[in-house]
Amino acid sequence: MRIGALEAGGTKMVLGVFDEEGHLLEDTKIPTRMPSQTMPEIISFFQEKGIERLGIGTFGPVDLRRTSPDYGTITATPKLDWRNYPLMADLEQALQVPCFIDTDVNAAALAECRLGAARGCENAVYVTVGTGIGAGICVGGKPVHGLMHPEVGHMLLKPNPMDPLPQGICPYHDSCLEGLASGPAIAKRAGAGAENLREDDPVFTLETEYLAQMCVNLIMTVSPEKIVLGGGVMGREFLLERIQKETVRLLGGYIQVPEITARVDSYIVRPELYPISGLIGAWLLARDGIT
Ligand code: ZN
Repeated sequence: MRIGALEAGGTKMVLGVFDEEGHLLEDTKIPTRMPSQTMPEIISFFQEKGIERLGIGTFGPVDLRRTSPDYGTITATPKLDWRNYPLMADLEQALQVPCFIDTDVNAAALAECRLGAARGCENAVYVTVGTGIGAGICVGGKPVHGLMHPEVGHMLLKPNPMDPLPQGICPYHDSCLEGLASGPAIAKRAGAGAENLREDDPVFTLETEYLAQMCVNLIMTVSPEKIVLGGGVMGREFLLERIQKETVRLLGGYIQVPEITARVDSYIVRPELYPISGLIGAWLLARDGIT
């Protein structure tokens, strides 16, 4: 059986065709423009491939309530052309194959949990720190939905008193994670992107603290067996070790499990399937029929 996988991103669409064993047979990327331009390109790619199912990991927010008439529809995205676009329904209708949809980060979390940095774990979190911050959460081996889907990027944090931008840059919230610690928040404080700053730039002290606060909050609420940190900002490799240490410090001795306190370097880790965690996750959604 051939299985299609689509990672729908805000700037590009990644399309893949897998076999049932997970071999990537073919893939391509196309820029994300308006749905009227981009969707026909996606449809014509998959129409020629003989796929029997399609898995979709998409940017969000997306309606994932299976009982909703808008299931699989992108909702309040800042990308106005895609707002209220019925992504899954249009693909199902055009391709006439069953489609399985989740957020891009939930798909990536599923992939890392099954086959990557968190394999062997039933409960894990995957976080991407880049232009935005998003996280996928797997509990009991499946991505978490619930009333909506997790929006870890907008958890509220305690700003550092020395932070020159303590309210952050999120248009919705003061002092949320994405507003304080995304790539654009770093650039606004430092006047340059994370990739062009020195390791000793004070903005990285703030970045470390905020991502460690996030890890603490995730540990306290989700109790993950691993936290996987990816995305462009985490491409600055020195950050990971600083975040590991700061997380243990912020836990304040309250959590006494050796997986965290003695072996934090194998608890907060890098992704192993980057840059195709999301695409592999989309394949898994379809292969295993996960909704
Ligand atoms: Zn926010």
